[in-house]
Amino acid sequence: MTLAPSPTLALHDGRAIPQLGFGVYKTPPAQTAEAVAVALAAGYRHIDTATLYANEQGVGEAVRASGLDRDEVFVTTKVWNDAQGYDATLAAFAESERLLGLGVVDLYLIHWPQPARDLFVDTYRALETLKGEGRVRSIGVSNFEPEHLEALREAGLETPVLNQVELHPRLQQERVRAYGERHGILTQAWAPLGRGSVLDDPVLAGVAAEHGITPAQAVLRWHLQQGRIVIPKSVTPQRIRENIDVFGFVLDEAQMAAIDALDAGEAGRTGKVPGDFND
Ligand code: NAD
Repeated sequence: MTLAPSPTLALHDGRAIPQLGFGVYKTPPAQTAEAVAVALAAGYRHIDTATLYANEQGVGEAVRASGLDRDEVFVTTKVWNDAQGYDATLAAFAESERLLGLGVVDLYLIHWPQPARDLFVDTYRALETLKGEGRVRSIGVSNFEPEHLEALREAGLETPVLNQVELHPRLQQERVRAYGERHGILTQAWAPLGRGSVLDDPVLAGVAAEHGITPAQAVLRWHLQQGRIVIPKSVTPQRIRENIDVFGFVLDEAQMAAIDALDAGEAGRTGKVPGDFND
């Protein structure tokens, strides 16, 4: 097991983000500090939480207890749907800030666009305010389709540094990625392992066998070589360590193409369709 730190990617606002981070969706609040402590000890320097996950407190606790300087760990949280709108978002952030207890937050995201509610532009204005006040360093979005990103652009708002979307071999999000590339918005993959569902695919087993690695490592390496940020989740120490041990091998073109060919488009989606999720 190598304690290789993840490389960082440049955000358009001048900051940098570790390309491989640690997700804590569905990590039980009581187990979160322990899981994050294992991740930090394994070399992760980027943690992805959200108000929805109800475990920001555990994330903050583990980061504070780690002995690492605050600036060595990149922490993301997100505003949940029930707090969209300018004033509600400012209040929701104040609570996240208190629960994390880390001072400045590295990245604050709008969790879902909820387009029919038509509040995400005002919500994003609140993110700009928080950045202006120095309480968050970078601002971005999650689950935004190109039309939602266009609405922010037309409103004259700052370009999000990244868009965190469901992305794995069965849902490769060509359209969202292409828009991001055109506008300097990095793509971050949530459910990078398809929530575990892609891992028994024989193509991945084949690639893994060729390198003496696991299917999860093959998938994560595929994402990294395509230039994406990934935030795999696990509460199992051995898997937490396995998922960051992906810097000692390189997939070749044929292996990359074999994984590319697993795209099932919309049929591969495991989560909500962003445009239709409004409650
Ligand atoms: P994931 O693709 O990271 O899959 C996690 C699951 O895969 C684990 O629960 C485990 O069952 C399995 N797994 C993990 N490592 C493994 C390994 N090495 N071998 C075998 N199985 C393994 O899915 P996720 O947790 O849904 O997504 C990752 C992170 O993305 C979340 O924790 C969260 O931070 C974020 N997320 C964001 C959104 C959003 O709407 N913005 C939605 C879902 C998740």
